[in-house]
Parts: sequence; structure tokens; C-alpha cells
Amino acid sequence: MKCTTIEKLIMDKTEIQYKSRKRLKEYQLHKIKETIAYVKENSKFYREYLKDIKAEYINSFKDFKNVPFTNSKDIIQNPFRFLCVPQKNIKRVVTLKTSGTTGYEKRIYFTEKDLELTVDFFSYGMKSLVDEGDRILVMFPGNSYGSIGYLLKRALEKINIYCYVQGIMKNTSDTADIIKNKHINCIVGIPIQLLQFSRSQSSIFKDRIDKILLSSDYVPETLVNEMTDKFKTKVFTHYGMTEMGYGGAVQCETLNGYHLRENDIYFEIVDPTTGREIKYGEPGEVVFTTLKSEGMPLIRYKTGDIASFSKNCCKCGSFLKTMNKVLGRIDNRFEISSHKYIYMSQLDEIILSFPQVMNYSLHIEDYNKIYVYLTLFNQCDFNKLSLEILKGIKNITFIEDELLNNIIEFKIINSTEDKQIKNSMLKRKIYDNRKKVYL
Ligand SMILES: [Zn+2]
Repeated sequence: MKCTTIEKLIMDKTEIQYKSRKRLKEYQLHKIKETIAYVKENSKFYREYLKDIKAEYINSFKDFKNVPFTNSKDIIQNPFRFLCVPQKNIKRVVTLKTSGTTGYEKRIYFTEKDLELTVDFFSYGMKSLVDEGDRILVMFPGNSYGSIGYLLKRALEKINIYCYVQGIMKNTSDTADIIKNKHINCIVGIPIQLLQFSRSQSSIFKDRIDKILLSSDYVPETLVNEMTDKFKTKVFTHYGMTEMGYGGAVQCETLNGYHLRENDIYFEIVDPTTGREIKYGEPGEVVFTTLKSEGMPLIRYKTGDIASFSKNCCKCGSFLKTMNKVLGRIDNRFEISSHKYIYMSQLDEIILSFPQVMNYSLHIEDYNKIYVYLTLFNQCDFNKLSLEILKGIKNITFIEDELLNNIIEFKIINSTEDKQIKNSMLKRKIYDNRKKVYL
């Protein structure tokens, strides 16, 4: 088993010389201080926001915990104030839609140097799964300069691996043709799209695809198991978000947790409510600080993702720590009674395990009614399917009382929505139409 290729990235790019966590932490602290000094000098937002923080007084990670968090809404309110370089130096702007109705959008800016850092991470990270002779299909957008597909292609060219960027899948038969014509054996894409493709083009998938890399959304365990058992496909997952410069962490061959891009990003896991550090290994909110960003560095940015660090060393033998699988987003849950939540990821595991299901969406209309709209591949016995799904939901043990006492009720609906695959990069989410008054 080969050691994670992220270790080589860290050794090549940090010049820490020894494979030691202590050395790496010293490097990260040094970079954090540099970044704080840099943003206080160059970003209007941080000059004001961190006016009481002095970089020279941050001499430990304990000191660093006094630095306030940056929230998504800070960027939404005025992304421009985060800029640390003149606008002419920005080579890519990504506009992310937000769920609010304020009309504001979240904008993330990158310089050429920022994009190069991502290409480096992708080059080393992709080596975790690709070997000489592999041919990769990328199901992410790649037409515009600096897009994920564009950067992945550049990264793969650097390591002499063939790559075809298809963009987001619009229909499965076109993708099947590309796989045949271009002799593809590995796909990089969004979990729900890969699920749809493998279920509708199962023979092509089984015969030709021996590994995949999933990114950009929660990766259901049921999907990983289906692909591994049914198709004998090796499933790698990547964790990242646009704010990190797309790339954040990737699994090694052990397929057991992510190795983090620790040369460019410092990761913390905190209590989502209090913001305090939590016991190592416990789940909490992922928070990150960029260490080398030029255009729009972020300090202690709260991601809204829930994960934990692994307590054990990775079996690949690396000195790097690992983060366990991301459990889902804080927003992607709904309260069913006081402080009791169901996460969309829990429902993913149940609903997506049925092979007839292509996708689903969750809408909460009343205080207690949760509508599950199913999009199905073909005609099937809908009543039987919905009963089986309800049975699965009833097995979520901690909601038994709420179900028994009719505090919540699930209704399964056969969606009449167009079965076309949506051309969307948006993460799947819950549509909670209740007033902001919970049970
Ligand atoms: Zn590993």
C-alpha cells in the first residue's frame, strides 16, 4: 500500500525537511502569523475586524483561538472588502448562490498564484488514485478559466495523465458514448450524478470504470457500498469547497478518511454553537484558515460542515493526520423536536439505497409534515417502494417517539417533475418552508 501522495506535497511545498507533526505545526503557525499581518495590511474587512489582534502576539495555537471566526455572511455582505490585491490581479471570480432572500451573493476571488496552488494540490492528490495509462473523465464544468474542470485538466497534464472534461452530465447516454470513445476508466464527479449514471448505464460502468473520485457533496455510504460491491469500483472521496480554492483533502488508498492540504490550509474542528475547541476526535464544525492565499485569504472561516479528526494514524503509514468522513452540513438538517435533528445525510443513506431512486428532495411544509419527493428511473410499484422507504425511516431509532406520537409525519410522493438530469452544481438541500418557529 502506498503512502498518501499528500505527504509528498507537504514535504515538497513546506520545506519542513523532517516528517514531523511538530515541524508542520511550527510551519503552520508561522504562516498563520504571516497571513494575519498580510490581511490586516491589505483587506479592508480584516483591518477593521481584527483591529484588536496583533500578529506578533500570536505565538501559539492557543493564542490563535482568540482570533474571531469569519462567517459566510461576512463575505455575502461585502465580498469586495476581503480583497487583498488590486482587482486587475483577480483571474477568477466564483459567484455562489445563497439560500437567503436578501439578493446578495457570495463571491470568491482568486489570483493566478491561488489557482496554481490548487493545481499543485490536484496534481499530487490525483496521484493517490491514478496510475500511468489511466484515462480520466471529469464531470465538472471546465470551460471557463480557473474552473474546477480546467484546473483538474491542468493538474493531470502535469503528471501526464489523459483527461477529458465533459462538464456536468446532462444525459447518461452521451456520457456512456464518451466513455467508450475515449477509453475512459476513471471518473471524477458529483455523488448523485455518478449514482444516476451507474444505475442507468450499469453495464458500461461495470465493464469500463474501475475507480471514481467523488466530490462536492455528502457522499452516502450506501452509494460507496453499491459501487464497491456491485461494480467492483474503487471509490475515493475528496473534501473541499470553493472558499478553500476548491481542494481541501483527499483519501489515500486505505479509503479511510481524508489527508488534508495542510501546506496551504490550517484546519480546526470546533463546537458549532460555542465556537470552543472540542475534544480531539469528537465531531464538530470544520473551520479553516488559508495559509498562502493571495487574493482573498480567510481566517478561521466557519464552513458549516460537520466532521471529526481521526484519533488513529492512517494505515498508509503517513505522519499526516486524517479527518473522518464529513457527516453533512449543519444547514442540511431539520429540527423535529427540541434540539433533536434529522440530517439529510441520514435520509440519503435510506432513500438512495433503493435502486429505483434517481434522486429525491425534501420539503417541510407544516410543522410536522415532511414530504419526500422521489424521482424514479422507471415505472415501479410505487406503493410498495414508499412503504419500504417509510420502514427504513422508522428504523432511525432516535426519532421513534416523534413518529409514534405523530409529532412528525413522513409522506412519500412520486415526483412528476421532469426526469431530466439538472445541470446544476448546487449542493442538495432541504426546503424548509416552516416559519422560523420550531416545535
Ligand atoms: Zn493514509
